[in-house]
Amino acid sequence: MTLLTFRFAPSPNGDLHLGHAYSALLNQKLANTSDGRLLLRIEDIDTTRCTPQFEAGVLADLKWLGLGWEEPLRRQSEHFAEYKAVLDRLIREELVYPAFMSRGEIRAFITDCEKRGRDWPRDPDGVPLYPPTDKALPMRERKRRIDDNQPFAWRLDVGAALAHVGKDLAWAEFSDETLSATRSVGARPRDWGDVIVARRDIPTSYHLAVVMDDALQGVSHVVRGQDLFSATGVQRLLQELLGLPQPAYFHHRLILGPDGRKLSKSLGDSGLAALRGAGASPDDIRRMVGL
Ligand code: GLU
Repeated sequence: MTLLTFRFAPSPNGDLHLGHAYSALLNQKLANTSDGRLLLRIEDIDTTRCTPQFEAGVLADLKWLGLGWEEPLRRQSEHFAEYKAVLDRLIREELVYPAFMSRGEIRAFITDCEKRGRDWPRDPDGVPLYPPTDKALPMRERKRRIDDNQPFAWRLDVGAALAHVGKDLAWAEFSDETLSATRSVGARPRDWGDVIVARRDIPTSYHLAVVMDDALQGVSHVVRGQDLFSATGVQRLLQELLGLPQPAYFHHRLILGPDGRKLSKSLGDSGLAALRGAGASPDDIRRMVGL
């Protein structure tokens, strides 16, 4: 029998807060009740925002909470060569293209479009979709700009990717914390437009690294916050393109701040370190997140 495998995958770019505590403890609870495995993955591909100090803080907070995970943990920044090999394959298959537009150029393109009375589509997070201009650049021009050292990111050609896959995609979503039943959710990767798959200097992105690692680590159950629900559509498309197995998903409720807003890493008062400093115990944290 294969063991159920869960993972908690924080990015060490700030301090953990109550929302992270809920996610970590829920994964631990589900692993314990199913006699499954719990893995810890440090998602530190953003080498400017993620620091060893933040990682040390994350590990200290998780140990204090009583989280136990299998060693060694996986640190994404140590696996750039593996991501690069897969990126090279996507480049060869012409499923990604170099995107050169700066934020300012994107803004100008959209303002221009909207001035002419055409609403520009936004992704589920409200960010405008990437304009189609660069996709139409001839190979020679792409090469010239890259050789010229112009900044760019590799973006997924979502239309080409969907044509390559050639079928509608869906995923299995658990309906509650007990993971007793699933429903099928249709993936809508087009809603995100041509997402970034890698940067010029970092051969991966959140989406690429997450699907590769979930597969490499044999993760069977991805349990994470509701804020990543619709991004799962993009990840299903990447899994299909790369021939990776698909885990089942549960996107759990978010822990909100007193003002009803999503917690962020800059909110000091819901930070685990601050709560611990103010005398809270791990049991208090469990109670606060409803576990
Ligand atoms: N590293 C992501 C975060 O901290 C979580 C990714 C995931 O669980 O898929 O928001």
